[in-house]
Amino acid sequence: MEKKVCRKCKEEKPKTNEFFRIHHNDYFRPDCKVCLKKPKKPKPTEKKCCSCKKTLKLNIDNFRKRCDQDGFRSDCKSCFDEKQRLRHRKFYKENTEKERKRLRDWRTNNLKRSLETQRKSRMRPENKKRQKEYDIKNNLELPNHRVANTLGLKLNDLTPDIIETQRLILKIKRELKK
Ligand SMILES: [Zn+2]
Ligand SMILES: [Zn+2]
Repeated sequence: MEKKVCRKCKEEKPKTNEFFRIHHNDYFRPDCKVCLKKPKKPKPTEKKCCSCKKTLKLNIDNFRKRCDQDGFRSDCKSCFDEKQRLRHRKFYKENTEKERKRLRDWRTNNLKRSLETQRKSRMRPENKKRQKEYDIKNNLELPNHRVANTLGLKLNDLTPDIIETQRLILKIKRELKK
């Protein structure tokens, strides 16, 4: 006769309905009928935290849940939360530099990209025309520092006369280009 070892008591018993309950069809339960009838151990109501060694009531206020034997973590909630906090802080510390660099790179890359987009947009004929019309309409002049820039000098190094003259030259150049 076929035999079966009970999962609980490890005894070998005949694999029949007399010793093992049949679950459905041909499936026998892993525990023998004797073991099934034994009262289960009452669930513990308290638990000692493995970290701070405090004994606390076993509930979700004191322990975080986990798919464990009793369904709770072995360390209490405040110990676990504290550990988690330190872990986060450590992670943040280690990653701050990396994160900062990533942000910096992202900004630089996106700045480049956005400047490129702006430049392309300005180069489009319809926008060029609109810009020119806008300049004429608003009688826009080159600001002093831009004039100084075209000479490769700082504003402080130039007298108003020189700035005016250079501005005139630039204007003439611009007119000639048209
Ligand atoms: Zn058994
Ligand atoms: Zn604890």
